[in-house]
Amino acid sequence: MKKVYADNAATTRISDEALLAMLPYLKDNFANPSSYHSAGREVRLAVENARQQTASVIACDKDELYFTSGGTESNNWAIKGAAYLKKNMGKHIITSKIEHHAVLNPLKSLEKDGFEISYIDVDKNGFVSVEALEKAIRPDTVLITVMFANNETGAIQPVEEIGQIAKDHGILFHTDAVSAFCHIPINVNTMNIDMLSFSGHKFNAPKGVGGLYIKRGIVLPCLIDGGNQENSKRGGTENAAGIIAMGEAAKNAAAEMQKEAERLSELREKLLLGLFDKIPGIIRNTPEKNTLPGTVNVSIPFCEGEALVLMLDLKGVYASSGSACMSGSKDPSHVLTAMGLDEKAAHGAVRFSFDRYTAEEDINIILDVFPEAVRKLRAVSRP
Ligand SMILES: *Cc1c(COP(=O)(O)O)cnc(C)c1O
Repeated sequence: MKKVYADNAATTRISDEALLAMLPYLKDNFANPSSYHSAGREVRLAVENARQQTASVIACDKDELYFTSGGTESNNWAIKGAAYLKKNMGKHIITSKIEHHAVLNPLKSLEKDGFEISYIDVDKNGFVSVEALEKAIRPDTVLITVMFANNETGAIQPVEEIGQIAKDHGILFHTDAVSAFCHIPINVNTMNIDMLSFSGHKFNAPKGVGGLYIKRGIVLPCLIDGGNQENSKRGGTENAAGIIAMGEAAKNAAAEMQKEAERLSELREKLLLGLFDKIPGIIRNTPEKNTLPGTVNVSIPFCEGEALVLMLDLKGVYASSGSACMSGSKDPSHVLTAMGLDEKAAHGAVRFSFDRYTAEEDINIILDVFPEAVRKLRAVSRP
């Protein structure tokens, strides 16, 4: 039985190129990049090369890019850092109802610290309302944080418009771009982005490495105090091998981005067309336009998403119900609920997500297996 890994929004496998790039730095070139000897300086050069490769993806300067342990740390740093940087000017923050928990929970801890958060609605397609966002701005608003693309549905948010609004009002703008980085074009300058989070394991680099772009001139306080690594902004010996693998993955993803986006969009629409043909009553949660190339989210009303995922698993297909971080929770997805889906539909959500290793054959297998799983489950759970 061929296994089909269709959960790349949860994590991707490391690419062969990235693995090869990092191996020497785990073994022979293991020196500390802060060491003054030539072995250390060699690793430093490779880390700085990776910084350039990664910065190129979003058109920032390499000295505006800081390496972290991943998306969660970057979001915590940007959000808490900006809040404390600006707290004398105000304690109001604007975000959306569809953010990842790596944004929602840092905001919750700021709420306990006296910050007020406005959560902006999305429309039925999962797009943040720019109008509502602008209306929510107050004289004491110090930060807007809205994700670049949603990890559950794929909906690409109106980041450029939000960036312009933030700029016009002199408010800092952060975006959690973990699911977009290296998948769709991003330019932090034309989009007026002040801070941007990304994570290696969502684009075929290893887990536990990521970064934060901080626009030059923004003096964000440290989240991780320690040595003078990362320009004294983030202490801790660099994950040199991980960073070097991430640079290689970023270089490859950037070179392939357009071709891959076209290929995956075709696979996405082929899957959706086939599923709509074979499954009566299925609902599309992924928008028709402005959506990530490789993410498909559908709902099967009156079926449990978790049950469908387990049935797919038995057939060698790995998918997700809602987001991986929320598995085990009985609540329906906060993203789908914010889009106005009723409980029955929100509970029946399944997400398939693809990467550079997804082939057309994988789509055909899903098209064989998934409608059958739905038929079986419906036979026992029809109301
Ligand atoms: C995966 C993900 C994160 C968390 O990133 P980690 O590197 O796993 O901490 C944050 N935001 C979004 C949108 C994600 O998809």
